[in-house]
Amino acid sequence: MKIEIIPCLNDNYSYLIVEEKTNTVSIVDPSEYEACDQIIKKYNKLDYILNTHHHADHVDGNLKLKKKYNSLILGFGLDKGRIPGIDIFLKDNQKQKIGDLEFEVIFVPGHTKGHIAIYFQKEKIVFTGDTLFSLGCGRVFEGSHKEMLKSLMKLKNLPQETKVYCGHEYTKTNLNFCLKYDEDNSFLKKKSVEIHDKLKKNMPTIPTTIGDEIKSNIFLRFDDANVKKALNLKDSSDQEVFSKLRDLKDTF
Ligand code: ZN
Ligand code: FE
Repeated sequence: MKIEIIPCLNDNYSYLIVEEKTNTVSIVDPSEYEACDQIIKKYNKLDYILNTHHHADHVDGNLKLKKKYNSLILGFGLDKGRIPGIDIFLKDNQKQKIGDLEFEVIFVPGHTKGHIAIYFQKEKIVFTGDTLFSLGCGRVFEGSHKEMLKSLMKLKNLPQETKVYCGHEYTKTNLNFCLKYDEDNSFLKKKSVEIHDKLKKNMPTIPTTIGDEIKSNIFLRFDDANVKKALNLKDSSDQEVFSKLRDLKDTF
């Protein structure tokens, strides 16, 4: 399984997945036609379009790509009215083949009502859209903070070595937020050096891993004593800490 990172729009990432055994080419969240097609052209085919959620910056390339390559579009069944050109309606926990690869659908509502993560168990790779970012999480637009926390917990429970490919390059702002409330986290400081190094070279900070995120992403560290202390929430529940963090980040 080969993954090509395609920078789109201001700060979006689309991902091309190439499976060489059966020559199957798929794309996750084609944000825009032009930038994606520049890369797809090299393969001259696009079998599948996978969408994590219905937002325009994740589906805007759907229809033009489908028309050019006769691709099949896969998205969560609940969002069948909102994902342009959808052909296959996915369900939570469902396993789905694309060529020789198989992924599992992980339903992660919160950012939107029908958001999914696309998890390749064998390859230990997950596409998290706008639910889990490197050092951050998505804004809660359609769901509740409670749902979002539950969704993040599902991702937190994946094997630590799982590589995380998310929908945006928001790492720098997320890093600054994490540092503000988790300043004594030595792993975060180490990660900060790596991130600045990559950004200086104009490289994506993606992928990260679940293990790295558990150690450095403050939105997965709602149960950490230092984080709770920094927020003045020493005796609060995980949910209260998470909600406070999400509120603070909304105006950061
Ligand atoms: Zn979104
Ligand atoms: Fe987005």
